[in-house]
Amino acid sequence: MSSSNGGPRGAALDPPVTLDHLVVVRWMTELDRRLQAAEAHLTELDAAIGDADHGANMTRGARAAVTAVTEEATQDPSRLITAVGHALSRSIGGASGPLYGTWFTALGRRLPDTPAAPAAVAAALAAGLDAVQQLGAAELGDKTMVDALAPAAAAAEDAARAGAGLAGTLRLAVAAAEDGALATVPLRARKGRASYLGARSEGHQDPGATSAVIVLDALRAAAEA
Ligand code: ADP
Ligand code: MG
Repeated sequence: MSSSNGGPRGAALDPPVTLDHLVVVRWMTELDRRLQAAEAHLTELDAAIGDADHGANMTRGARAAVTAVTEEATQDPSRLITAVGHALSRSIGGASGPLYGTWFTALGRRLPDTPAAPAAVAAALAAGLDAVQQLGAAELGDKTMVDALAPAAAAAEDAARAGAGLAGTLRLAVAAAEDGALATVPLRARKGRASYLGARSEGHQDPGATSAVIVLDALRAAAEA
């Protein structure tokens, strides 16, 4: 298996230029691995301003997502991602289950049934964000996953419009999501369980914004493999 790891660009090292079904399968495998590694950290973040179940919720979801893409024997990336959305909605409890389920389902519905170019991926990230905001009514700065998903979608759109490839588009999206997740630390939560804490939610990074970075970085890694 080749790996470019952000090294010099060259024809032999170029990662896939589109998001196809193989990237989706790798995305879920990467996500499962990364969420297992991050489970304790996500639990700790949710223990501080929630109910300490975000790590368990996300790892359970990732297992179900891997099963879903394995069972869905199709080369249609759109159908695979929609199947992930349905699996997450069914398997993750709490607020994040329906929210991530909706994000993936909207992503899948917006993607073409053929390998997707960077502009189509960026449009899908925008559609995912839109669906999450329709469902959860969180705005930027409310200290939720939206604080990572929104800047990521905007950065992907800018990068794709400027002609970046898939990996480059996703690298910029992840960097923006990371900044957004870090920026949740001083904020007071205005949505979800953490909002019950009022001022005591300040000074902690939002668990859902943190897991959103992991979701996006797993996609970036899958596209670069
Ligand atoms: P629960 O809060 O039900 O225990 P989780 O712990 O799995 O569910 O997820 C908590 C995360 O969900 C929060 O950190 C936040 O990012 C996200 N979240 C909660 N409510 C909303 C909302 N209305 N819109 C967007 N994200 C939300
Ligand atoms: Mg929780």
